[in-house]
Amino acid sequence: MVKKKNRIGIDYGGTKIEGILLNVNGLEIKRKRYSYKKNYISGIETVKKLVDEFDKISGHYCSVGIGIPGFSSKDTELVTNANSLWLNNKPFKKDLEIALNRKVKLMNDANCFTLSEAVDGAGKEFKSIFGIIIGTGFGGGLSYKKEIIEGANQIAGDWGHQPLPYPTDEEIKTKIKCPSSNCGRPLCAEQFMSGIGFSKIFNAKHNTNFDAEEIVSLDNKYDKRAEEELNLYEDRMARLMAVMIGIFDPDAIILGGGMSNIDRLYKNIPPLISKYTFSNKVNTKVIKNFHGDSSGVRGAAWLWNDV
Ligand SMILES: [Zn+2]
Repeated sequence: MVKKKNRIGIDYGGTKIEGILLNVNGLEIKRKRYSYKKNYISGIETVKKLVDEFDKISGHYCSVGIGIPGFSSKDTELVTNANSLWLNNKPFKKDLEIALNRKVKLMNDANCFTLSEAVDGAGKEFKSIFGIIIGTGFGGGLSYKKEIIEGANQIAGDWGHQPLPYPTDEEIKTKIKCPSSNCGRPLCAEQFMSGIGFSKIFNAKHNTNFDAEEIVSLDNKYDKRAEEELNLYEDRMARLMAVMIGIFDPDAIILGGGMSNIDRLYKNIPPLISKYTFSNKVNTKVIKNFHGDSSGVRGAAWLWNDV
């Protein structure tokens, strides 16, 4: 019988690289995080340092899964769409396999989040999951029966750069355009829904200089401006979710990233969704993640589900 291996999950962030070591039953043995110089070589060296440490603890070569911004193209094996720009057009998978002396699996970080929550997080009781990350960016991933649906173009569920559905006159008048090179389109949802986008819209309207967290705490103090902007934000999110319900109709939608800590979203969004769906009753649950910041590394470790 082949001995089961421990799993290593790596979350490749823009400034830090985090690793987790899970035992054969999925329990956390160790977690560690290193800063690195924002360049390609330093990133590979840092991943190797984490993997070497975890191998040593385990006494064997563990499986390695890595969550990255963007994705590693199945056609070319080059990284595409990464906001850590030094990764783009690099054969990251191949170079890691040489450095680590084993096969590795790479996956988009929103997919890693979704997988982690589907396997043993907030979505463990549900068959179909739509995971959304709302932080500095805005993206999503789909999972069915605890597996990621990656899609022919490797962007299934990643609808954050589609235009905002049912735009209002006020939204059209903002003339907001996306700065990302693969998007650049007007009304790009990320420009409205990310933490940065949300605060930019508020500040432009009220001539202020708050970040998203400060606007939320204003709302907690019954500030009318903050309350109105959050009402608009919830309506936009309901429209975006309704589009995904019309296509994938998930059992649960799970939120992660900084904006997922806004409690009122879970109460206010569900009743708004049916305004925009072809169904008068919406059974889809809108819930907060369970694993918090750990979801990225945990999902990366679960990319190897058969070791
Ligand atoms: Zn965009």
